[in-house]
Amino acid sequence: MGFFNDLGKKTTETTSKIAREAKLKMKITENKGKIKDLYENIGKKIYENHIREEKTDINELVSKDCSEIDKLSKEMEDARKEILVLNNKKICKKCFAEIEKDAMFCPKCGEKQTTEKTVLEKAEEKLEKTEIAPENEKEAKIVKEELEQKNNNE
Ligand SMILES: [Zn+2]
Repeated sequence: MGFFNDLGKKTTETTSKIAREAKLKMKITENKGKIKDLYENIGKKIYENHIREEKTDINELVSKDCSEIDKLSKEMEDARKEILVLNNKKICKKCFAEIEKDAMFCPKCGEKQTTEKTVLEKAEEKLEKTEIAPENEKEAKIVKEELEQKNNNE
């Protein structure tokens, strides 16, 4: 009984992991396309401004598109990070190779990997271990973002 239950659970976990990864990859592709369109849009606006008699400030013209690109890039970066975590991988700080999460040394460049967790990683672990009720998800996200900011400033 137990065996089949465990097996079923494991299969479900694997399936949801694959589904999540597929979703993240789709998001990355989607955002890439959106960014491409935005680049085109920016180019078009600048050219249109060039042929127009009354020139507009270029920064003002494209700032909205640029912030949109910032947002989409950030989303892509987050998705890439999440895919790494899903696959128990991390990025070598020296050569940026994709390596096993628990690797002590990078197999590509030999760089010793720091095992000490950052403040953010510790906080994330804590958040992951604790079941977050849906109504608290927003708060948890804010706390996470605050910690992330704190971590970046260190
Ligand atoms: Zn390396």
